Amino acid sequence: MCDMCSSPESVYRIELEGSMLNVCEKCASYGRVITKLKQEEPIKRKKKKEKRVEEAEVKARKKTETVQLITPNYSKLIKSAREKKGLKQKEVAKKIAEKESVIHKLESGRMKPGISLARKLEKFLKIKLVEELELEGSEVKSGKKEGLSDSLTLGDLIDIK
Ligand SMILES: [Zn+2]
Repeated sequence: MCDMCSSPESVYRIELEGSMLNVCEKCASYGRVITKLKQEEPIKRKKKKEKRVEEAEVKARKKTETVQLITPNYSKLIKSAREKKGLKQKEVAKKIAEKESVIHKLESGRMKPGISLARKLEKFLKIKLVEELELEGSEVKSGKKEGLSDSLTLGDLIDIK
């Protein structure tokens, strides 16, 4: 917009009595023209900047963090795998060097296994309890980073989001 008249476009940047004004073609003759303003230029610059931001975001996205999570339906998986093998909770416990009460708590969903315990169960029962997720760095930061250890399930992760 022209600083001198109400014309919607300003084409020239002029100096008039010590002040800088952006004016239209007509008003430019009142002062000393410093530079010609190109209407497209600011828009182009903005686009370039946005592109740079996008690139930065892509870079950030590549910084992923692998998080190991216990699958939410671990209790059912453990129980059905154990029953398929025709084993008692006590027998599974013995095989993986855990207490029977641990297996009982796992199967009833009252205890979430840690990664190492889950790995033992996975190996012995031939099931998959640990899910590995590649997380964007920023997503991890927004969540409880300290909580992203053994005890976090996929369900917990969704809650954080
Ligand atoms: Zn004007």
